[in-house]
Amino acid sequence: MAKVLVIGAGPAGLFAAAEAAKNGFDVTLYEKGKIGENIRCAEGFFDTLKVLGKPQFGILYKVEQLIVKAVSTYKFSTDKLNLWMLDRASWQRKLAEEAVSSGVKISENSQVRPEDLGKLKNGYDFIIDASGAPSVTSRAYGFSDHYKKNSGKTVQYTMEGDFSHIANCLKVGLLPDFWGYYWIFPKTKNIANVGVGNFYSARKDRLWNRLDRVIKEEGISGYKVLKKTGGICPTAVPDALVFDNILLVGDAAGLTSPLHGGGIDMAIVSAKEAVKSILSGWTDYEKNLRAIIANKLKFEGLLVRVLCERNLAEIDKLISSLKKYNLHRLLANPKLLNNFSIQLLERALMKREQLATKKVL
Ligand SMILES: Cc1cc2nc3c(=O)[nH]c(=O)nc-3n(C[C@H](O)[C@H](O)[C@H](O)COP(=O)(O)OP(=O)(O)OC[C@H]3O[C@@H](n4cnc5c(N)ncnc54)[C@H](O)[C@@H]3O)c2cc1C
Repeated sequence: MAKVLVIGAGPAGLFAAAEAAKNGFDVTLYEKGKIGENIRCAEGFFDTLKVLGKPQFGILYKVEQLIVKAVSTYKFSTDKLNLWMLDRASWQRKLAEEAVSSGVKISENSQVRPEDLGKLKNGYDFIIDASGAPSVTSRAYGFSDHYKKNSGKTVQYTMEGDFSHIANCLKVGLLPDFWGYYWIFPKTKNIANVGVGNFYSARKDRLWNRLDRVIKEEGISGYKVLKKTGGICPTAVPDALVFDNILLVGDAAGLTSPLHGGGIDMAIVSAKEAVKSILSGWTDYEKNLRAIIANKLKFEGLLVRVLCERNLAEIDKLISSLKKYNLHRLLANPKLLNNFSIQLLERALMKREQLATKKVL
């Protein structure tokens, strides 16, 4: 039995560990804290590639609508999307239980330090680094700056108050003056994750100020703050994903969406692919993973460029035409995203011609 060490018990680490154990590996997982604690996330789970399906545990509800505020406010049905709201703490605890029942040995309060890696590399056949960003490997191999330079920055409150008007819906609002957006993701009718993300270069104090402004504008400033959190969403894959016998997965692999910073789905996809690649020779992990995610990344990168080149009024116009022509349904068919369709989209969207958009899409 080959020995595998997994570092970190977020979604990437838990899926990698369980998958490896199910495939007959002798798996140990080290988590620096307690499983399900200190999670920094708005907890919307969007299976963008439609390859994962409904999570087995931790679902709070299937999202019914996405509410998007630009100049006007638009409502998009999400019935055709794999989009759920999760309670990540209970989800991850349950995933850990499942992993243990598949044979994974989990050790909590066990931090792996960069200086430990040398010894661990010799003691295990493979290491799957799922320690988030910046990863343990990046500190040992000297590329932790990569994440800082290629990340969205976020801050978030978990708030208590009346969110029943958007029950079972996720709301996002564009903040192009700020190169970012805000979100209100209700967990229940009375509790929601409310945050802002900036994909440029804002300082942390500016992020909190911007969030307070959003909260005022949304009319929820009297609500109680239960928790304050935040962090980075790494949006670019480092130059390599394999270092000796170490494979990077999830945020450690820089896999959050450049468009919105969501990364739970890619954490799972990369974890599964890492184990699959180990089974078939492991050196092809990076190539295999890139093949799976390339079109998604191209598509999201294109949308980021479109957003960057327009002001709020133009973006609003674009969103209204998406709604009018039902083009958001494209997201429901990720298989339609290929080199050809993305090129057509690019031509249509970058030209700013709505007629062309209609014709092409
Ligand atoms: C404010 C915010 C909101 C977000 N909202 C969403 C959202 O709504 N939807 C979405 O899809 N994504 C969201 N994301 C992104 C999402 O949280 C991440 O993409 C996802 O958690 C990545 O999973 P992971 O397992 O790779 O890393 P993580 O979830 O970061 O897990 C890493 C684990 O490794 C452990 N660890 C770290 N260092 C060590 C060490 N040295 N030794 C041992 N263990 C270690 C950590 O304690 C942690 O448990 C959000 C991110 C932020 C910051």
